[in-house]
Amino acid sequence: MPRYLVKEMFGPTLQGEGAHAGRPCVFLRFAACNLACTWCDTDFAAEGAVKLDAADIVARLLELDVHQARMVVVTGGEPTLQWDAPLAEALRAAGFRTHMESNGTHAPAAPVDWLTVSPKPQFHTGSLALVGQPVSELKVVVDDTVDEATLAGYEARYPSEHYFAQPCMTAAYPASLARTIALVQARPRWRLSLQLHKILEIP
Ligand code: SF4
Repeated sequence: MPRYLVKEMFGPTLQGEGAHAGRPCVFLRFAACNLACTWCDTDFAAEGAVKLDAADIVARLLELDVHQARMVVVTGGEPTLQWDAPLAEALRAAGFRTHMESNGTHAPAAPVDWLTVSPKPQFHTGSLALVGQPVSELKVVVDDTVDEATLAGYEARYPSEHYFAQPCMTAAYPASLARTIALVQARPRWRLSLQLHKILEIP
């Protein structure tokens, strides 16, 4: 039976970003990422992570999901490095909707209910690997490299109903917020996404 390197599981909480911001959920955070973005705000180090099988993960998420929202945000690190059919099926069988947050370097190896892709080509050109494949939502973190042409390029590359621009909150904030608002006003297919969990100071 496969085992997965899990950094943390927590909840109940709220999804903080994108089209499902504000929805109650629990979080599954895998350890490890294949990128190293300079402004990364996530601790995905293997140190402190634990190896669990799908049954362990489902049991813990069910414990955490005390209000039975049955939505799990699957993130990392980079979740596609470990996501597979046995875990996807175990979560589905337990009644969870799976919302994955990926950097777009790999397609998920097993189905998810919602796929958020957040490429980081300013650091890693391989982050555009899913170009041309439909994604549930595209979320671009706006730092000082992102401009209107960047957003137009994403629209051309990624077919999606949902485009979100989100200010980088670890570099040049609040200038990144002003830049993001201006970008969204200039390109109305895009919506502003804020990291609600940071603003509300919830996990
Ligand atoms: S892809 Fe995401 S988790 Fe990985 S280093 Fe970049 S910001 Fe951090």
